[in-house]
Amino acid sequence: MANNTEVTVQIFSGGFNGESVSFDIVEQKLLSVLDRLPVTKVIMGWLPDKKLYEKTSKLLKKRDIGFYLWFPVFSETGALKDLEPLVDLNGNRLERIEENKSEDFFFCCPDNKENIKKILEIFTENFSSLEKNCFNGVFLDKIRYPSFANSRGSRGVYSCFCPECLASYKKFNFNAEKFKLALSGERHFDIAEYSGNGKYLFKDAVLSDFFKIKLEIIYESLSFICDFFRERKYGIGFDVFAPFLAPFTGQDVIRLSSLCDFIKPMMYRVTNAPAGLPFETDALTRHTGNKIINKNMYNLDFCVKEIKKLNDVSSCPVYAGIEINRVDDITPVTPFYIEETISAYLKEGIHRFALSWNLLDMPDDNIEKAAQTLC
Ligand SMILES: [Zn+2]
Repeated sequence: MANNTEVTVQIFSGGFNGESVSFDIVEQKLLSVLDRLPVTKVIMGWLPDKKLYEKTSKLLKKRDIGFYLWFPVFSETGALKDLEPLVDLNGNRLERIEENKSEDFFFCCPDNKENIKKILEIFTENFSSLEKNCFNGVFLDKIRYPSFANSRGSRGVYSCFCPECLASYKKFNFNAEKFKLALSGERHFDIAEYSGNGKYLFKDAVLSDFFKIKLEIIYESLSFICDFFRERKYGIGFDVFAPFLAPFTGQDVIRLSSLCDFIKPMMYRVTNAPAGLPFETDALTRHTGNKIINKNMYNLDFCVKEIKKLNDVSSCPVYAGIEINRVDDITPVTPFYIEETISAYLKEGIHRFALSWNLLDMPDDNIEKAAQTLC
């Protein structure tokens, strides 16, 4: 094993309204990887289950492994509190659709201060009574606006136009009317070039101004949220989109890396679900007709280059997020995929990996191949 190889594993223990998994299952699965992989951090969440977290924490402490609570921020939290939704261009609220799924992908307005207050209350009410030092930190997910793959398609991307956001736009001298007009043009999404790390050159300045403001809003809101966790002595990790997709959801990966201790871009090349590169890229091209962003962006070479470029400028360690769970049709991950992917990153000197997003669905042949490739 290259002795600087470092692995973070992620466990989905259930959504806010889901059913929790038993500690025995978590323990069994963790033990099957901890002896075989160089694991330094475990991320688990987000269903509130005090005992599960406390027992897992004890197991990890014995091995000196960091434990992070996987906490969704601007979506999923609407299951527990009434949050103000995003508002589309025509002033329609993108309300939560009541569904009892493990993830609802309902995004609230990230600029709304009352929303942020309630989201932090969700953390306090559900997780602050856990044993002291149960978690080393929080791993913040859904720190973004919806993408084109959201069921509301471009309505969620070309948001938010709630009163608070309109006031922010004024502060940035952004002309919302001009923006609406630009969107009615056929070629409004023309991009001249992509230079890496989420940097696009838009032909229409009003489009790039709009996305820049969203980057600013997410950054500012997250600064506030991170202060809350820092004051309570929590470490912070961020789950972000692949750099080339991130700016359309309000994520400036370089700037965000200055707020957290580690950052994990989701480079899921075979995932047909949100954050999966084929799923997101196809939705983006379908909604925008743009050709600069295309399926070459989820080939392995491109993904490795994306992580290398981010590594060069990131303020914190970057963990390449690779899917390792196998769910037929959604994530058909094979040992071959794991070997090919990890080897390509290692060859380019990238040695930090986040094995995502659910260790509990990682079959043993995938674990074995990850161990062989990493060690
Ligand atoms: Zn808003």
